[in-house]
Amino acid sequence: MLEQLGEDPTREGLRQTPARVEASLKWLTRGYGMNVDEVIGDALFEEKHESMICVRDIEIYSMCEHHMLPFFGRAHVAYLPNGRIVGLSKIPRVVEVFARRLQVQERLTDQVAEALCRVLTPLGVGVVIEAYHLCMMMRGVEKQNSKTARCAGRSGTTARPGMSSSGSCTAAASRCEDRARDRRLPGDRARGRRCVPSLGDACRACGAQPVERRGRAPYRYRL
Ligand SMILES: [Zn+2]
Repeated sequence: MLEQLGEDPTREGLRQTPARVEASLKWLTRGYGMNVDEVIGDALFEEKHESMICVRDIEIYSMCEHHMLPFFGRAHVAYLPNGRIVGLSKIPRVVEVFARRLQVQERLTDQVAEALCRVLTPLGVGVVIEAYHLCMMMRGVEKQNSKTARCAGRSGTTARPGMSSSGSCTAAASRCEDRARDRRLPGDRARGRRCVPSLGDACRACGAQPVERRGRAPYRYRL
């Protein structure tokens, strides 16, 4: 590769570079050797807690699978427990399992939501990831400050009364929606419940507020 770029691989500074790159890539993709069950271990607890649990500002560093360039930012994860909770420190570690692979932001968001859904069988899960992509910042469009946001919502138990059979609406969502009805912005009513209002509304745990709802764009939050 160095030769193809027009470099001299025998140059002193580059002699160890192939080995360093190999080691670094292994580290950056170590998520392939991790799995959610191992990471969570025995940190699952039966608990009657009913409020939304929200962990925000989880740092993420991942690699875009198209260009093998980093993307990085923050993940916000919330769930509404259904008799089971997970140790809070485990949530960033679950994010890490999937972030430390070759990824696209959309899949990363979905995988975190699905994993938590499977392990916790919660009433609902919401995941928002905001990230800067070096493949956009350093090449291509060269937009330095464009952040991309992705949301994923899952309902954990579809058998509950009052929940949509489509699975795209969660009990968490409707509860938040009831609470936040007065604060809703125009257009939300028309959109009904087929979005991720559990995250679109202020989080009861951390108070994060949505700041922008335009067209079909993902929700964005004041961090
Ligand atoms: Zn890319």
